[in-house]
Amino acid sequence: MLHVGINGFGTIGKRVADAVRVQPDMTVAGVAKRSPNFEATIAVDRGYDLFAAGEDGADPFDAAGLHTAGTVRDMVAASDVVVDTTPGGVGETNAALYDDCDTPAIFQGGESADVAEVSFNARANYDTAVGADTVRVVSCNTTGLSRLFAPLQESYGIEKARVTLVRRGGDPGQTSRGPINDTLPDPVEIPSHHGPDVQTVFPDLDIDTMGMKVPTTQMHTHSVNVTLESAPTAGEVRDLLADESRLFLIPETLGIDGAGKLKEYTRDAGRPRGDVWENCIWADSVTVEGRDLYLFQAIHQEADVVPENIDAVRALSERTASAEQSIRRTDDALGVGE
Ligand code: NAD
Repeated sequence: MLHVGINGFGTIGKRVADAVRVQPDMTVAGVAKRSPNFEATIAVDRGYDLFAAGEDGADPFDAAGLHTAGTVRDMVAASDVVVDTTPGGVGETNAALYDDCDTPAIFQGGESADVAEVSFNARANYDTAVGADTVRVVSCNTTGLSRLFAPLQESYGIEKARVTLVRRGGDPGQTSRGPINDTLPDPVEIPSHHGPDVQTVFPDLDIDTMGMKVPTTQMHTHSVNVTLESAPTAGEVRDLLADESRLFLIPETLGIDGAGKLKEYTRDAGRPRGDVWENCIWADSVTVEGRDLYLFQAIHQEADVVPENIDAVRALSERTASAEQSIRRTDDALGVGE
């Protein structure tokens, strides 16, 4: 059984902890937070050992009536792998702690790529992370694009990718984010930083990206154009993508016109938090003209990186022989693709 510590129990951390908990080969060694809030209360309710990560140690948690099991260092030392889900830029300040404790560490997409040996996506480059000491699970957007590009690259070759990312203004709990009444080119610079981030997974990929921000908290939407090296039919591309467990082709018959109904669908289906772990590709949008493929996909920013973190734990611990086995085990335990 792999003991997995989670440092930072916010949007991503709480989902990763719950995903670890349902894996047959993993258990939650504990979760660490700096300060008490509703998420710390939930951690205790779930039965996770809570560790203090702030300078004031256990004091703020004691004051809030929350029992702590020790410090973040205790948790890291007791873990086979630690998943750092602290806010972007904070993870790198924790790297020395993980190194001191000799605990392999997984960082998130808010860190710069040089925080870890490998920028990771299970479908695209699992094998490069096997046996590494550190990996960075790439951002929600880069994860969504990597899952799409991997099968396209393998089956048809990619000459050039162009993507416009229409990004949610903030997560539902991020009351300080926006815009609340505008449509922003963001960043204004072209290409946006997203293309270079995808190249941390596909170093030779020719890709240009443009970013926007809009007033929604639901999901990101990608408008994708890929010039392929061969010319499959739209039907062949649909069949290829439908075979991927982490790609969901939305059939027209579901009547899903956007992220709102997608989230409603997963809530109705009983998914935890209404999470959408898969890329959601509108099947009818898959169009091929010559060698140019076009499609729209929606990405649930809070959820798509969660199964990738689970696979990254297995890659670092070298306990699973192949990417396919890890992906299948993760998906079966979580219910991805069901
Ligand atoms: P968050 O703010 O929701 O959660 C971060 C948690 O870490 C909070 O509980 C915070 O109190 C805690 N924390 C802060 N400093 C800490 C420290 N020094 N030690 C321990 N805990 C600390 O952030 P998030 O949205 O979960 O993002 C975490 C990482 O995941 C970032 O790198 C982010 O870029 C990346 N990410 C976020 C999303 C998303 O949409 N939210 C998607 C993909 C990747």
